[in-house]
Order: sequence, then structure tokens, then C-alpha cells
Amino acid sequence: MAEVLVLVDHVDGEVKKVTYELLTAARRIGEPSAVVVGEPGTAGKLSEALGSYGAAKVYAAESAEAAEYLVTPQVDVLAALAGSASPAAVLVPASVDGKEIAGRLAIRLGSGLLSEVVDVDADGVASHSLFGGTYDAKAKVTQGTPVITVLPGSIEAEQATGAAAVEQVEVPAASGAKITGRQPAEAGDRPELTEASIVVSGGRGVGSAEQFEVVEKLADTLGAAVGASRAAVDSGYYPHQFQVGQTGKTVSPQLYIALGISGAIQHRAGMQTSKTIVAVIKDPEAPIFEIADYGVVGELFKVAPQLTDEVTKRKG
Ligand code: FAD
Repeated sequence: MAEVLVLVDHVDGEVKKVTYELLTAARRIGEPSAVVVGEPGTAGKLSEALGSYGAAKVYAAESAEAAEYLVTPQVDVLAALAGSASPAAVLVPASVDGKEIAGRLAIRLGSGLLSEVVDVDADGVASHSLFGGTYDAKAKVTQGTPVITVLPGSIEAEQATGAAAVEQVEVPAASGAKITGRQPAEAGDRPELTEASIVVSGGRGVGSAEQFEVVEKLADTLGAAVGASRAAVDSGYYPHQFQVGQTGKTVSPQLYIALGISGAIQHRAGMQTSKTIVAVIKDPEAPIFEIADYGVVGELFKVAPQLTDEVTKRKG
């Protein structure tokens, strides 16, 4: 069976959920091999978890330097492995770093890139969800090793039996942009935006930074992440790292609740693949209703607190 390389997204010794989704997708195409790029000892710690989602092999590309540089170590390692293992495809998370890695890798391999796919089949045909899920476009790379970025949350992770054997691979000398420091996003106890199964986002309709509390309260009651539209971010209501959309984060949770967000195409680009979309907005003509599964035409400061109270009551 052909190998399928999966780039492992990991932080602080933990595999991120999107990696399990990628391993699940990879099993449809062939036999997944997980690729861990990080400091020495990382792959050994992650191999059991990776094996439990079907990784037959874990390539350990480990060096102190590899963890200190942005994207180039991952590109170098994947390019070398694509040459030696001749995989059927390389799957990469559609995160900010992942998209850059995939683009650089496809150029390096002289192959094609399928970006932000929501599904992939046994023949390597990938699906893209367009215009708020109105169109499902299929595409396939016909030259070289396909490089595919998969939207977090779009494929359900399924466990598989198996143990991954760890194989050390060489990490080329690192170059490019060096990381000089890391500042964890201040999300408090909330889940990370792109990993969360529920996201509650606020838009310009929220009206002020103080009033974003209504968004946060609903999010906390649901155990959700908080997001924001660009208008809310540009108005200073919420920090930029929580922006959802074309120039922000892409999310694909089970449930996306939009409060006071009109649903401009650039916002939809970042959330349209959410499984269930709920919109609360005053304007009955707002384009968000074209993609919302449930919509309330109304005052968010009335509806959101009611929703918060109702969820609290039901949780007992
Ligand atoms: P608005 O469009 O102003 O909508 C606010 C809505 O709230 C209105 O419909 C109003 O009726 C309603 N409202 C007001 N008060 C209340 C209330 N009390 N209760 C209920 N409803 C109320 N946008 C993004 O979100 N993410 C991006 O990444 C992004 N990237 C962009 C990139 C480019 C190149 C460009 C040109 C634009 C981008 N935008 C992005 C901006 C986008 O075009 C919209 O301007 C933006 O999404 C609008 O945000 P909004 O829906 O919060 O605001």
C-alpha cells in the first residue's frame, strides 16, 4: 500500500486534534506515516497517540534547531521524504504555518497543491466547500506528489488499532526565519479557536470591547472558543488573533454562533464549513442567513443572554 505522509501538528508535547483528522483522511488513500519535526525526544512521546489513529510509521526529524525555525525545517524534511518514500500524497493541516509549508513544498516538488480541502477519497480526489457550502468542487493533482491542506474540523477523526514504529530521519541544517520568542495566545481556559468544537463569534453589532462580555459569557457556558469578525477587531472590540475569515483564522467547528455579524464573503471564507451555523442579527436581509442553519432576527443583547441562561439551566 502506498505511503501517505502526514505532517504532525504538535504543541507542548501534545498532538493537536487536526493531526488525527489528517491521519483518518490519509487512511482512505493509503498507509499513513506521521512526520514529526521538533526537538529531540518529541516523536517518541507522540508515537503511541499517533499509532492509535493509524500511523504505521513515525518519521522523527529531530534537532534542537528544527524547533527554532519557522516552516523551513518542515519543508526540507517533507521534501526529502517525498523524494525517498514516493508517497501517494502529503497531507498538511490548513493552519497559518501549514498553508505556507504546503505552498513551499508543492513548488519544491514541482507538483500541485490542493488548499483547504474538506474531504478526500481513495483516489486522492479532494473536495472543496465553496460559497457557504452551496458548491462542492472536486479536484485532483495530476502531476507529481499531491500536497493537500485539510481544514481543521472538516473530517471526523476515527481511532484505529496499530502501533507506530519510530524511524529517525536527518534534518537538514536550518535556515530562514528564526523564532526569537513565543507568546501564547491569551485565550484563558477557553479552547484554541481552530481546534474548538463550538465557536461563538461577535461582530460589529456587539458595539464595544466591554459588551463583548455577552459573547464570552455564552462561549464559556458552552465550553466554546471566542471569535470575532474583522470589523469587530478593527474597531478594537477584540484582539486580532481571534479574527475569523479570509485574513484571520479558518474554523470548522460542529457549531458556530455568529452574534451581530452580517456574513460578508470574507468572513464566510473562514467559517462556512462549520457543521451547524446559528446567526443572531437585527438585519433580516443579512447575507449570513444564506448559510445559517438557524437564524434569529433580533437584538443580540436580548437573545444571547437568554441562550446563556437556558444552556446554564439545562446543564443543571
Ligand atoms: P457589519 O457588516 O457591519 O455587520 C454588523 C451587523 O450587526 C449588521 O448587520 C447590524 O444590523 C447588526 N447589528 C448591529 N447591532 C446589533 C444588535 N444589537 N443585535 C443584533 N444585530 C446587530 N471580515 C472578517 O470578518 N474576517 C476577515 O478575515 C476579513 N478579511 C477581509 C479581507 C479583505 C481583503 C477585505 C476587503 C475585507 C475583509 N473583511 C473580513 C471585512 C468584511 O468585508 C466585512 O467588512 C466584515 O466581515 C463585517 O463585519 P461584521 O459582520 O461584524 O460587521
